[in-house]
Amino acid sequence: MSVDRGARADRLAAALEGSGTDGSPVDAYLVTDLTNVEYLTGFTGTNGACLVSRDHRVFLTDFRYAERAAAIEDWEVEIVSGQWLDGLASRLSGRVGFEDDHVTVRTASELDEAAEGAELIPDGGRVEKLRRVKDEAEIERIAAAAGMTDGLYRELLEFGLLGRTEREVDAFLTGRMRELGAEPSFPPIIASGPNGASPHAEPSDREIGRGELVTVDMGVKLDGYCSDCTRTFATGTESDLDSLSREIYEVTLRANEAGLAAVRAGASGSEVDEVARRIIRDAGYGDNFGHGLGHGVGIEIHEAPRLGPTSEDELLEGEVVTVEPGIYVSGKTGVRIEDLVVVGAEGPSRNLSSIPKRLTFV
Ligand code: ZN
Ligand code: ZN
Repeated sequence: MSVDRGARADRLAAALEGSGTDGSPVDAYLVTDLTNVEYLTGFTGTNGACLVSRDHRVFLTDFRYAERAAAIEDWEVEIVSGQWLDGLASRLSGRVGFEDDHVTVRTASELDEAAEGAELIPDGGRVEKLRRVKDEAEIERIAAAAGMTDGLYRELLEFGLLGRTEREVDAFLTGRMRELGAEPSFPPIIASGPNGASPHAEPSDREIGRGELVTVDMGVKLDGYCSDCTRTFATGTESDLDSLSREIYEVTLRANEAGLAAVRAGASGSEVDEVARRIIRDAGYGDNFGHGLGHGVGIEIHEAPRLGPTSEDELLEGEVVTVEPGIYVSGKTGVRIEDLVVVGAEGPSRNLSSIPKRLTFV
């Protein structure tokens, strides 16, 4: 299924009549964040910007990208001599919203000079808001990325963990991703034994021993869209594993499943977080779960909405979010279990991660 980018620009144009960051409508909107530019136009490059109003769609870039820009449908293309800024001055009028959360202080002041008669309104977040809800073509791509990640987990089980170094496992996974025509959506986390106590551990030369938990957090970017999945495995056999590791695995798994069941349109990010967090707290590990429950995934690995104790985001049908509770015991071990789900109108939501979650000994 192809992506209907024209509909996205239409939705953005229609939304300009509604309130933005400063609570009022704007006449036009300038999109300079390159991820947002890609979302609207499909353009990938280092110099591009979009100006959208009710009647106009203008894409600005320089001559290096003239060929790529010509492939962009439904947009008037202006090739400028330098930065996108150079082509703007004559086009700005009325109230023009811009992505104040993405431009540098220098660009903001240059923009201010270029704007002359127009009124520039700091108005970031309008495209991010559109990006939250995925259309069918996007969900198809994210599901394909998640499917590839599941396949990599199956290959990893054959490759083995015991006796490997974390770095070897990392090299195997990222190598396979590239062979399969994808790239890592973020640097994989391979955290064995005590390294598992750090949620963002970097792969080290540590050799994975017997009777350890190994947390693997990875995803691919395929066809422009990301996936994200975490599994924690154990090495050796049942009898090799200590009771603490066993217990925190069971608690984290229950929290993951309860969180998944709570994901539905209309629930708030903090409500879903609390459903999972309560289980971990009641088991006595409340202080060992120091991050939010999940995040949106799309063109970027971390995007809106957020699932966490302070999140006021209300989940919408068609969003794709992670549910990733964890328990981290400093100096000893850690567990995280993460699935990627599509938010359904009234749960249960569609889980895109299919790798079994019963503790697997590798
Ligand atoms: Zn992850
Ligand atoms: Zn994640």
